[in-house]
Amino acid sequence: MDKNQELFDRAAAVIPGGVNSPVRAFRAVGGTPRFVRRAEGAYFWDANDQRYIDYIGSWGPMILGHGHPKVVEAVQRAVLEGFSYGAPTEREIELAEAIIALLPSIEQVRLVSSGTEAAMSAIRLARGFTGRSLMIKFEGCYHGHADSLLVKAGSGLATFGNPTSAGVPAEVAQHTLVLPYNDVEALELAFQRHGAELATVIIEPIAGNMNFVRASVPFMKRLRELCTQHGALLILDEVMTGFRVALGGAQSLYAQQIPGFAPDLTVLGKVIGGGMPLAAFGGRRDVMAKLAPLGGVYQAGTLSGNPVATACGLATLHEICQPGFYETLAGKTRRLVDGLKTLAAEKKIAFSADCEGGMFGFFLLPELPQNYQVVMTTDGPAFNRFFHAMLDQGVYFAPALYEAGFVSAAHSVADIDATLAAAAHAWS
Ligand code: PMP
Repeated sequence: MDKNQELFDRAAAVIPGGVNSPVRAFRAVGGTPRFVRRAEGAYFWDANDQRYIDYIGSWGPMILGHGHPKVVEAVQRAVLEGFSYGAPTEREIELAEAIIALLPSIEQVRLVSSGTEAAMSAIRLARGFTGRSLMIKFEGCYHGHADSLLVKAGSGLATFGNPTSAGVPAEVAQHTLVLPYNDVEALELAFQRHGAELATVIIEPIAGNMNFVRASVPFMKRLRELCTQHGALLILDEVMTGFRVALGGAQSLYAQQIPGFAPDLTVLGKVIGGGMPLAAFGGRRDVMAKLAPLGGVYQAGTLSGNPVATACGLATLHEICQPGFYETLAGKTRRLVDGLKTLAAEKKIAFSADCEGGMFGFFLLPELPQNYQVVMTTDGPAFNRFFHAMLDQGVYFAPALYEAGFVSAAHSVADIDATLAAAAHAWS
């Protein structure tokens, strides 16, 4: 008997869809979700004791791999001192100082428990700071499930959005304008029509929620200019890319190419918690000063800055700051991506792939897509066949064609090569 199926049936009786976050249910790819029993390094084991090379790493946080001894030790020590106090701790300052040292655009930062909470709070803050309501987001970017973000494009380029989820009032969606990613013309038009009412623009600088799509440098440059010109705050959502694509996040890569580039606010999550519920938002001091208890924008959390989570985050940040960490990580990720490209070329499969640091994406498309519409032209059944062929060989890629993948420091060159051998077999 398949123990994963047994658990899935049992879960479905008590948890909607059997999962606590939808993509885990394998709805897109079909089949039985793997229930994880334990994880170590680059691997996890399912309920049948089958081992997988893990390329989701909890969807990003596990940059050191699972159970890094230094992180485990820090967490164990913290647990013995108490789980949660609801009063401030020195460790919160240490983590805030570490984040600020690594991301120069952040002058002050507040810790929260999830990326959703961080993005939602950053948007509220931007609205409170500017005294405006309207927001731009881009199609294919995900910033958590706050009501105002579950919105798709309206009928025309510069019309406001419609809810993508039941339960989101149309009135809420109408404050969000959804634009195509990497489209400078649409951006110009939106600012021309609505610039004076815009509180903020939120963007994933490398969009990991439509697999892996980079914002082009001209697009990001123009976006920064337009925000400044019209008094709207630019929020970079680096929940996925922060400490993942580079030590300074994706913003450090754009700053190399766009002189003076910096967001007004940044949203962080995933890697900063090292696998514990921890996220953050931060940025300009004058903007952050509007937050309660200093200012009139309310935001709070019982578990915010949790002492065990901050211990985990700090220990993780300590390891990724070691010299050469990103070079090694990026080398392995590049080996995977180049290896897949070479194999696909040999098999004459339409394929493109990209990576940065420890994050990658691959497409069953001849060229790298620049926006969501093109991403979604992927042959879904072909992706699902590849996904399952890999899964059957013990390689766990993201179970949806619009999700990015992650390599950790625990992945060995042998793991990458085993993955490539599995892909060669899948495509044979
Ligand atoms: N922003 C981005 C870019 C994300 O990828 C995610 C989650 N995948 C979120 C925000 C939301 O984070 P969380 O799931 O922790 O609420």
